[in-house]
Amino acid sequence: MKGVLVLNACADDYHEQGRLLAGFLAQRAEGMEVDTAVVFYTEKTDCASLLSAVPVQQALLVCLTQGRTETMLNVLAALEARKMAEVYLFAGNCFGSEMAVRLGQRRGGSAMAAVDGVQCEQGCIIATKAVYGGHMEATFVLKRSPYCLSVAKSCAEPAAETGEPAVLLETLTVPEGTENNFSADFTLMKDEQEKNLETAPFILTAGRGAKSREGIEYMAKAAEKMGAELGVSRPVAMSAWAPLNRMVGVSGAMLKPEICIAAGVSGAPAFYAGIEKSGLIVSVNSDPRAPIHKKADVSIVDDWHTVLQYLCDEFIKERDNTAGDHISRRTGAAGEK
Ligand SMILES: Cc1cc2nc3c(=O)[nH]c(=O)nc-3n(C[C@H](O)[C@H](O)[C@H](O)COP(=O)(O)OP(=O)(O)OC[C@H]3O[C@@H](n4cnc5c(N)ncnc54)[C@H](O)[C@@H]3O)c2cc1C
Repeated sequence: MKGVLVLNACADDYHEQGRLLAGFLAQRAEGMEVDTAVVFYTEKTDCASLLSAVPVQQALLVCLTQGRTETMLNVLAALEARKMAEVYLFAGNCFGSEMAVRLGQRRGGSAMAAVDGVQCEQGCIIATKAVYGGHMEATFVLKRSPYCLSVAKSCAEPAAETGEPAVLLETLTVPEGTENNFSADFTLMKDEQEKNLETAPFILTAGRGAKSREGIEYMAKAAEKMGAELGVSRPVAMSAWAPLNRMVGVSGAMLKPEICIAAGVSGAPAFYAGIEKSGLIVSVNSDPRAPIHKKADVSIVDDWHTVLQYLCDEFIKERDNTAGDHISRRTGAAGEK
């Protein structure tokens, strides 16, 4: 099956894209022939250096004034008339995944982001990718051409650049106006919460027993009062009561805090795998037969609301006592002076 690489030289990681895609072609792609790359760049870039980083024989350079994804999609759609390829391969960064999904949707083909490997067969592509937070590998059969795929970053050893420049097929210049320019600028923001969950020594995990978004908000406040991070079970994240990056279990974060309170959680294996390495597990569930009780070090058969309220009061008392203790010790020390 014939494929084409799509490289974005408007981005800082242009060389990395080429190395990743070359590694993917050499190690993870069966039955695919790729000899051409489409390279998007802006006027400021030097063409010779662009061609030296292309990991296939020939390149079609597309010069843009601004480097907008919208224009790139239009160019790729127009190039389809040339029947250059059935497969479009992008590097697995934000740009590549966005382009793969949008191009696949526009052209009525198949799209998949972060693919680990492909096998091209007559009339279909068998693609593998990591799912459930990287704990399982799934195999998909893609049946509609064009196949628009972005490649997972760590699926293959990146290939070294050969230094052999690709042959220039053609240069297209595409001016860009301001029409349809719905995003003027963007910044990727790191989610601080994500790393807190993985490293927190104390975690409160909330399950579907919370019953509603309000229930989860209550639990989040309780966690804050106790100095814990909030994790949630999959049904809670899937109901959008909490962000997806708070999900605990095989599909989310695998944690090993010193203490984990599991409240309103039944204790299904897929969830439990995410907390089993905790130093101490406390279950809070009103159903005495809930599996989580058998797996916990301490089990409390009660309504989570009552228990968390009690725990928060105790934490606050303890904190105030400790603070009072410090103050009286400091005052005592001052008195002795
Ligand atoms: C491939 C696959 C991957 C999965 N990955 C994950 C994963 O990563 N993480 C995950 O969590 N799940 C995952 N699941 C889903 C998992 O199997 C369970 O369905 C899920 O963990 C159940 O979530 P829960 O315990 O919040 O809800 P439920 O099973 O509905 O349990 C709710 C519990 O709350 C209790 N409860 C109700 N009211 C109260 C109250 N007032 N006070 C105290 N307790 C109360 C109930 O007794 C019940 O035990 C996966 C499933 C599959 C098939």
